[in-house]
Amino acid sequence: PATYRDRRVVVLGLARSGVSVAKVFHALGAEVIVNDKKERELCPEADELTALGISVLCGYHPDDLVTGDTALLVKNPGIPYTASPVQQAETHGVEIVTEVEVAYWLSAAPIIGITGSNGKTTTTTWIGKLLDEAGFNPIVAGNIGTPLCEAAAEATEDNWIVAELSSFQLKGTSSFRPRVAMLLNIVETHLDYHGGMEDYVVSKTKLFANQTADDIAVLNWDDATCRAIADTVQAKVLPFSLYVRLDKGVCVEPPFERGKESDAAHMIVWRKEDGTEETILPVSELGIPGRHNAANALAAIAGCLAAGVAPQAMVPALKGFRGVEHRLEYAGEINGVHYYNDSKATNPTATTMSVGSMSAPIILIAGGLDRGSDYMELLPVFRDRLKGLVALGETRSKLAKVAELAGLTNVRLVEPEEDAESTLRKAVQEAAGLAESGDAVLLSPACASWDMFKSFEDRGRIFKESAHTL
Ligand code: ADP
Repeated sequence: PATYRDRRVVVLGLARSGVSVAKVFHALGAEVIVNDKKERELCPEADELTALGISVLCGYHPDDLVTGDTALLVKNPGIPYTASPVQQAETHGVEIVTEVEVAYWLSAAPIIGITGSNGKTTTTTWIGKLLDEAGFNPIVAGNIGTPLCEAAAEATEDNWIVAELSSFQLKGTSSFRPRVAMLLNIVETHLDYHGGMEDYVVSKTKLFANQTADDIAVLNWDDATCRAIADTVQAKVLPFSLYVRLDKGVCVEPPFERGKESDAAHMIVWRKEDGTEETILPVSELGIPGRHNAANALAAIAGCLAAGVAPQAMVPALKGFRGVEHRLEYAGEINGVHYYNDSKATNPTATTMSVGSMSAPIILIAGGLDRGSDYMELLPVFRDRLKGLVALGETRSKLAKVAELAGLTNVRLVEPEEDAESTLRKAVQEAAGLAESGDAVLLSPACASWDMFKSFEDRGRIFKESAHTL
């Protein structure tokens, strides 16, 4: 990064990560220009940067923003490669990276990089707790809160950076090399941005591209795409599995059977390279329920083993972890009905997992932004698990159609009210009307929130408030 002193660095996108990147390069003595298409009133961070003497241009993309003498363009992961400043950079042969690449340049600490379609935040948070209890000084960052650059700037060799990474962030890396790289699973989401499954897989595999035999790749052996990647990585592979008895890696004894519930006692075991094995704890003692969370636990254990944590040091945080807000979060009981907020379930696979991991009869509230997912994936759980469906948002009719095919009769379509909050409140009232004592009302939308809400957090909060004011 020191080579950027006195050189022009353009930061595209004025979100939290953009601010931390701008500050990093400013402190290094670079000439930093920050640009965002949003109007300045919508960029509250602008003043702080201007006060430091950093140029901030808001409201448009200037035609001559990225010139031949620009040394670097740091692009917010959400900005498409078709945006004009990115095109300008390509024309002039200027290097284009995301904040993750910059963080790697800066970091004195080893990095555990976690990606996948589902379970990233849960697994990342869990690893943070496990490392913390084991005295490993983790800094949890990335897609999950603290921008990675901010974490990297403060980290020392005594820390571990635990980074949740999206495929959007990984797409803009070139030399990024995590000590431990973890791929949890790959399902067909985000296809609209990446223009197809293949590009999406390529972005995810960039996580492993610069690893060497000194590094470790944690891979989900139950996911065919992850298994296929194992043959292409340079790092030592540490697999995990719920369904296969592994010779080496972290697995469950006896293995689960796919598609079948189980009343057997399943033990988590670590089989080592030298042929010995260590028993860690029973699956039933994990702090959060559901088979998908058992998979997240296996991943978290594997990640911590890769960092050098002793298995027995993990047991307290494996038992004590209570999950993350908006992920199958218990939101209380009203008139004998239990309310759960799973607003973070933004694709059909996530909703399938959540619905499948609950035992009470479920009234599901679902629907949201239409990204062209295949909602037929929901048919089996709709048929086997739902008592009723309340559908809202852009995808409401598509979901109602699946419910109809599943033979559900308790289906309610909620038409948009004057604002999103009222629409969701109406949906909660409809769900409460369908529920009887002992049932569960579950918000697990299977869709992103942006057709109606600012974020999934917003949607989850409004759901909880609506339930509490019933
Ligand atoms: P991410 O950060 O990848 O979006 P989260 O940990 O926030 O994942 O979980 C989001 C939702 O995805 C959860 O509420 C749950 O419904 C589902 N989910 C969590 N872990 C898994 C998993 N391993 N496999 C499939 N679905 C999962």
